[in-house]
Amino acid sequence: MSAGVEIDTKQNQIISFNPANGAEVGRVPVSSKTAVTSAVCRSRDAFQMWKSTSFAERRRLIMKARDGILSQMDEIAHLISAESGKPFAEAISMEIAPVLDLMQYFAKHTEKLLRSTKIDIGLYALLGRTSKIVYHPLGVVAIIPAWNYPFSIPLGEASMALMAGNTVIIKPSELTPMVGQKIGEIFEKAGLPENTVQVVTGEGRTGAALVEAAPDKIMFTGSVATGKKIAEAAAKNFTSVVLELGGKDPMIVFDDANLELASSAAVWGAFCNSGQSCSSVERLYVQESVADKLTKLIVEKTCGLKQGSGDNEDVSIGAMSSERQLKIVEDHVEDFRKSGAKIETGGKQNADWSADTPVRTDATASATTSAASGEADESVRSPLFFQPTVISGATNDMRAMKEETFGPTLPIATFKTEEEAIKLANDSEFGLTASVWTRDIAKGNRVAEKIEAGSVCVNEVLYTHGIGQTPWGGFKNSGRGRTHGLAGLMELVQPQHIHVNRLAILPNAWWMPYSATAVETFRGFAKYFASGSIRRTAMMLPLLQKRVRELVRYNRSER
Ligand code: NAD
Repeated sequence: MSAGVEIDTKQNQIISFNPANGAEVGRVPVSSKTAVTSAVCRSRDAFQMWKSTSFAERRRLIMKARDGILSQMDEIAHLISAESGKPFAEAISMEIAPVLDLMQYFAKHTEKLLRSTKIDIGLYALLGRTSKIVYHPLGVVAIIPAWNYPFSIPLGEASMALMAGNTVIIKPSELTPMVGQKIGEIFEKAGLPENTVQVVTGEGRTGAALVEAAPDKIMFTGSVATGKKIAEAAAKNFTSVVLELGGKDPMIVFDDANLELASSAAVWGAFCNSGQSCSSVERLYVQESVADKLTKLIVEKTCGLKQGSGDNEDVSIGAMSSERQLKIVEDHVEDFRKSGAKIETGGKQNADWSADTPVRTDATASATTSAASGEADESVRSPLFFQPTVISGATNDMRAMKEETFGPTLPIATFKTEEEAIKLANDSEFGLTASVWTRDIAKGNRVAEKIEAGSVCVNEVLYTHGIGQTPWGGFKNSGRGRTHGLAGLMELVQPQHIHVNRLAILPNAWWMPYSATAVETFRGFAKYFASGSIRRTAMMLPLLQKRVRELVRYNRSER
């Protein structure tokens, strides 16, 4: 078995493999620290030109890139499937379609969303002042994504950053570098000016070099552990970071829910992308009275799913992306077993499907090392399939109910009351998404607002990352900042406040020199003006006039 990442040390290349059959997908260079630093310099130069392009021009180029994706949709979907192991169907439904929607939305609406806005400054307006906000691009935006949505996440963030006037450098995950390069190629073919979008490839060290090269923003998607390292390194340059981290997302099913729908949603929410979504359903809490019925429905539906190589159109569950991930799943299933939960279906690697699949013997073993271990990898690469696994009798004190699994497991626990469901759902270090299932929409909303998560769905599950108009991000250890939506766009610009005094004929009462009248006036500001009330502020007008006259006299005669 391989660790999933292999570096050809002689050639200084990453070798990318299909996790479903071990076939080589392609090779990319490992970008050195010097190469990364140069890329950031080129990006900074390109920014000087790109920031002054019109929104119409940016829109034209993003829409052209979008057309390019549409014209080679199947080819791109096969590449995503081959590198990540996900079903071809999901490469289209969960990566290509949503990002195309996001691209058209931000291409058409960024100009309006970033239009300068007037601010209501209350009583200052009576003094002839106006304030507005103008949004400026930041500069170089570094995008460091995970491997689980290797196309839609970096491409969506890049499109938003570009529309806002920034230049972009993407460092794709070492597990999916070919998809990352494809993104670069799409923008290049669309005719974006040179160095507006660059892709540097490599593993963690290349990512670290990018952080160290002081870009103007870092958009990171990945684990909590790496997120902490990046935040720490970025702090040295005061680079601001958006962190999209892990999840342990709860689904709450009340006894009045449509169980037919809820069971299908649970199966999709837990097993799409082999459970390797940050917003996968990783804890299902069902009201006691309907637990058996819901569990039975979920097990029946799970047993009907076809698992296999992602390039087959009728495959619902593909391979896991890496051996490291598969080991975590095995460990968590074992933890459930040992802790007394019941494995209803699944529970182990799926060897059956792979009987006729050629298993690659690592021909380049002598020249390759495992990036994770640094040791020569002379083993045989096996396909990385884990059966979709439904577990009943789970409880929050089990380790596997606390740590992110990121695999095809669906642990089910029960609750009695609404309060208990909320307490169980919030009993986690994470807070990315959650879902609540009930026919009582008022109850759904009430519960949703009490869940500590960045997005909560009522009678829906997992898919809101696909709605580009809505903000995406986590509470607690699931992250900081937002991508998508207006909040996400705001992460990619710096607001500038422009304040104008249209009555610049008299000195301000708070200017120097100070005096007894000045102090009395300042007391008035504190008591009256700061109340926000025009009526109360009117009470200090005589004092204000006295103070301004004092300043005018000083300016005319006493110097
Ligand atoms: P990871 O943290 O191992 O790697 C993520 C990226 O960081 C990779 O590109 C990697 O090369 C790079 N990297 C590693 N070390 C680095 C360093 N020191 N400096 C800079 N870059 C470095 O995560 P992963 O295994 O690729 O992704 C899985 C995690 O991502 C899961 O926890 C999942 O929940 C999370 N995720 C979150 C979201 C979200 O929107 N919140 C979306 C997808 C995935």
